[in-house]
Amino acid sequence: MKSILVEIQCDCGFHTYRKSETLVLSDFEVDIRKALMENTYFTIRCPRCGKEIIFLHPFAYVDKKHHFIILLKPKQAFCEDDHHLYHEDTRSRKRIVFDPKTIKEKLCILEDDFDDRVIEIMKEKLRLQLERQGREIVDIVYQDRHEDSLWFLVNQEPLAVLYENYQSIESSLEKEKYDRYLAIDGQWAKAWLALHK
Ligand SMILES: [Zn+2]
Repeated sequence: MKSILVEIQCDCGFHTYRKSETLVLSDFEVDIRKALMENTYFTIRCPRCGKEIIFLHPFAYVDKKHHFIILLKPKQAFCEDDHHLYHEDTRSRKRIVFDPKTIKEKLCILEDDFDDRVIEIMKEKLRLQLERQGREIVDIVYQDRHEDSLWFLVNQEPLAVLYENYQSIESSLEKEKYDRYLAIDGQWAKAWLALHK
């Protein structure tokens, strides 16, 4: 763990500092994992005006059990040097996340030992399929695996996709070298699908 003091400033003028962590090892930080899953780790409620303040700072989350590392940073601060972090660890999937609100889904996918590239492609295919049926899709979020199905929330409604779809996409993907931090999200999946029509 590496602690820092983060300056927090509210629009109402309230000003404070909060201790936070920049490096978290999942095995030792059950409370931080819980806060990330509840979307409360990077937020604070202003004691003066009650507004929710989101504060961001560089943050790395290391899960040795499921072999992944998530790096959170604002997009404009992400740079070549970041790829040196745990560079020697070529067993762990390395991901960069720009929005703290997307960490929860990332944790769900990677803790279930899934390749998030496959999941994002599945979500994008599902979106296209539903839109062709005339549905307007606000969001699709991975939930969990149950027997031979993967469950997603489509506009908050549960929907299952057969696991064989996962396997078929997985077999068409190149094996990853795990040497760089990749941003794997809906945009990535759109770009991948455009290249692999
Ligand atoms: Zn305030």
